[in-house]
Amino acid sequence: MQENNLPMRWLYDYFSPYEIHKHAIKKTIYQCNSKFQEIEILDTATYGRCLILDNEVQSFETDEFIYHEAIVNPALVLHPNPVKVAVIGGGEGSTLREVLRFNSVKSAYMIDIDAKVVECAKEHLPTFHEGCFNDSRATIVYEDGRKFIENSKENFDVIVIDITCPRVESPAHKLFTKEFYLAVLNKLTPNGIIAVQASTTFPAINSFSIICNTINSVFPNVFPYAAYVPSFSMLWGYCLATRGLSPFNISNDDIDKRVSERITGKLRYYDGITHQALFSLPKYVRNALSEQTEINMDNKPFVEMYPGHPNST
Ligand code: SAM
Repeated sequence: MQENNLPMRWLYDYFSPYEIHKHAIKKTIYQCNSKFQEIEILDTATYGRCLILDNEVQSFETDEFIYHEAIVNPALVLHPNPVKVAVIGGGEGSTLREVLRFNSVKSAYMIDIDAKVVECAKEHLPTFHEGCFNDSRATIVYEDGRKFIENSKENFDVIVIDITCPRVESPAHKLFTKEFYLAVLNKLTPNGIIAVQASTTFPAINSFSIICNTINSVFPNVFPYAAYVPSFSMLWGYCLATRGLSPFNISNDDIDKRVSERITGKLRYYDGITHQALFSLPKYVRNALSEQTEINMDNKPFVEMYPGHPNST
């Protein structure tokens, strides 16, 4: 601490070159450069521990439950009987933790390209993974998620895609393209559903709308949604896509019933009422989605303007 009691070190979360949100750092817990990315774990004064990959904040200890319940629960509650699930990415384990809460799930694969993220999360982020890596239903695979999807002989009821944002130099950028989503569609069982982390709805709304439009070019039914995450200070975007099911054809009561029947433990964020809020997007977001025409292709991947990166333009 400085003499005036203000913290001396700050985490800079870049929303753009002209807007930075600062979090006071209590302590650096871990730092290394893996084969794929720079990994940092910091303890922040307001939101607790935080995972950062290549300068991009992933999630904070005190409100990661919002981000992770929002990415997993709408899809697993909507599916009539989710038995086999894949998580692409999700290295710190919170997405897998949410999937394994469902007692119908008999097998869950988590495919992350970077074993180092999982290794340091196991040691330094126990409240994120809550021991889920040791669940006998879990299989952890260290491989590029795209290769896994293209080569696997398995089919899944739900595939949750929780990877880092699509910068061209990042290991994730080939997992936001039309070609990838086509391969994913081929790995789904007949009632299959995907749930995708789809970047922020503001200021990088272009990324969100391109991702949703690209999924829309492949899947018959596409439902963008969003959750407000306090530590991000913004509405975070997701996209759910199905072969036929719709999140608008399930009542609040049915959601609450499925949650109580299917889930071990208590949810803190998701229920029937929250479900309605997730899928009720503000008008400017709906307009941006309907006006988007760009489809992200392997030979022309878009470069994201996203929060967290000092070179965002
Ligand atoms: N659940 C997270 C959170 O806390 O916000 C979301 C981010 S999770 C840490 C993102 C993971 O995606 C990282 O662990 C990264 O290694 C992984 N990843 C990036 N590119 C990948 C790829 N091509 N295949 C599989 N995993 C990938």
